[in-house]
Amino acid sequence: MSWTAEQRLMLREMGVPVFWPETQEAASGYMQAPAQLYGAAVESPPSAPRSAGLRPLADVLPSSATRQAQEAELGQRPSGIDTMDWPALRAAVSGCEACGLCKSRTQSVFGTGHTQAHWMIVGEAPGEQEDKQGEPFVGKSGQLLDRMLHAVGLGRQDGPPEQQVFIANALKCRPPANRNPLPQEMAQCEPYLLRQVALVQPKLILAMGRFAVQSLLQSSEPIGKLRGRVHAYAGVPLIVTYHPAYLLRSPADKAMAWADLCLAREVLAAQALA
Ligand code: URA
Repeated sequence: MSWTAEQRLMLREMGVPVFWPETQEAASGYMQAPAQLYGAAVESPPSAPRSAGLRPLADVLPSSATRQAQEAELGQRPSGIDTMDWPALRAAVSGCEACGLCKSRTQSVFGTGHTQAHWMIVGEAPGEQEDKQGEPFVGKSGQLLDRMLHAVGLGRQDGPPEQQVFIANALKCRPPANRNPLPQEMAQCEPYLLRQVALVQPKLILAMGRFAVQSLLQSSEPIGKLRGRVHAYAGVPLIVTYHPAYLLRSPADKAMAWADLCLAREVLAAQALA
């Protein structure tokens, strides 16, 4: 793949120092040696069962008095989520009262993008702007996310599925004052995300941030330990990376996020060759 001047500018904007091969041949060589370049190891094959070797979420996340209190607020999820079509799923998320977040939300944030996108981006939870606008990643971290996606030739609007993303959050409702999501809230919300993955059938999932990763991989390992290899969620290859909000606070780590995007692109390229 060659890079446009605009994409190079965007990578510079991300603060990512990247070596640009002089020729197209050099560029394709760059794409063909991911393992040597990034030390990438495939942790489990894309077809591996989702929870193989992983501990239940409840075992790896700390319990607390807050969590106990929240448990008391849990309500019923609609039945049949795992067979819903897009309109039914959207309606179920919109009216969901399965946890206490329904009381403080302005609206739930379902997700957006191409419904057959090859890439699925999973964030953590809506923030203030997302809660107001009903769309994921519309605040400052969303602007950085869009620049990062654009840098690898992706968008969240119209276009062929291979150049599009579907963006969803692990939690569909904003936690009050952007507090950390509670394990029970994530557990209540997970069937919605699982169904979104089943409907989109992405070729790759990019999990952004600690809580998205905890929810998808049921692991409390830090991002730094989980990134750089290929995991799996619901049979889909999954790459772990830093949350854009974290990158805004720690710009030096943008280089690692860039490496994660490159790894994701290589996983997709390898699938296309298989
Ligand atoms: N952070 C997220 O993880 N998701 C959003 O939608 C917005 C900010």
